[in-house]
Amino acid sequence: MFNTLSDRLTSVLQNLRGKGRLSEADIDATCREIRVALLEADVALLVVRTFIAKIKERAKGAEVSGALNPAQQVIKIVNEELVGILGGETRRLNLAKNPPTVIMLAGLQGAGKTTLAGKLAKWLKTQGHTPMLVACDLQRPNAVTQLQVVGERAGVPVFAPEPGNGVGNPVDVARRGIEEARRAQHDIVLVDTAGRLGIDAELMQQAKDIRDAVQPEEVLFVVDAMVGQDAVNTAQAFADGVGFTGVVLTKLDGDARGGAALSVREVTGQPILFASNGEKLEDFDVFHPDRMASRILG
Ligand code: GDP
Repeated sequence: MFNTLSDRLTSVLQNLRGKGRLSEADIDATCREIRVALLEADVALLVVRTFIAKIKERAKGAEVSGALNPAQQVIKIVNEELVGILGGETRRLNLAKNPPTVIMLAGLQGAGKTTLAGKLAKWLKTQGHTPMLVACDLQRPNAVTQLQVVGERAGVPVFAPEPGNGVGNPVDVARRGIEEARRAQHDIVLVDTAGRLGIDAELMQQAKDIRDAVQPEEVLFVVDAMVGQDAVNTAQAFADGVGFTGVVLTKLDGDARGGAALSVREVTGQPILFASNGEKLEDFDVFHPDRMASRILG
C-alpha cells in the first residue's frame, strides 16, 4: 500500500532538495503536485484541502533556521502535517476500571472484523490480558464457526449461541457472553457483530442495540483500506448511526491507493488504533501515525 503515493511524494520533495531558497512560486508548485498525488491516491478532497492549506501557510511563514535548508524545512512540515492527519500520538486502548473491558467490532461485511477479532485477541494475550470472543454476527452463515476457528488459532475461548437454537438474538448473546466473561474472569471481551454488504438501517440499529446493551469501553470501526473514497462515506454512516471510539485499518498489505487510510481519522475525528496487513493472525500491529508517515514519505 502507498507505493505510488510514496513514490510521488518522495519525488516531489526530492525536486526541492537542490534549491537554496524557495520562492512562493516554488512552494505553490510543490503544493500543487502534492495535491494531485493525494487526490490520485483517493484521499478525500476535504482532507486534501485542509492539508495543503496548512502546508502552504507553514511553508511560506517558515523562518529560515540554521540547521535546515528551506527544502528540508518543507519536508519536515509535510511530515509533521501527515503525522497530524494520521492522528498525531499513538492512541492506546481504553480499559475499564472494573473488568471486563468490552470492545465491540463494527463495520461492513468483508472488512475483516472476524479476522481482526483473532488478531486482536492474540495480541492482547501477548500484553498479559485474558481475552474472550463473543460471536454476535448471527446474520452471515458460518460467521460463528469462522470466529470459533479464529479463536482456536489464537488460543482464546469463544462464546457463541448454542447450535440448534435458531438464529438467536445478538443482543442477548452479547449480554450472556459478557456475563460468562465475568464469571470466568476474562479481563477483555471482544464482541464481533454482523456486517452487511452495504450500509443499512437494520444493521445500524442492531449494532446500536448491542452497544446500548453492553456499554462497550471501545467501539472499533473496522475498515478495509482498499475500498477508496467509499470508506469515508461508510465511516461517516457508522459514526452517525452507531458511533465509534476508534478505527482499525485492514488490508494495508494490498496494493490499492490507500486514501481511506489517510482520510478516515480526519473525517470522523476518531483515532486509528490498529492496522492489519495480511491474512495471518500475526499480520497486525498497533498503529503509529509517525511510523506510517515516515513510510509514506520514504
Ligand atoms: P468480516 O466479514 O468483516 O468478518 O471479514 P473477515 O474477517 O471474514 O475477512 C474477509 C476476508 O478478508 C477474508 O478472506 C480474510 O482472510 C481477509 N482479510 C482480513 N484481514 C485482512 C488483511 O489485513 N489483509 C488481507 N490481505 N486480507 C485480509
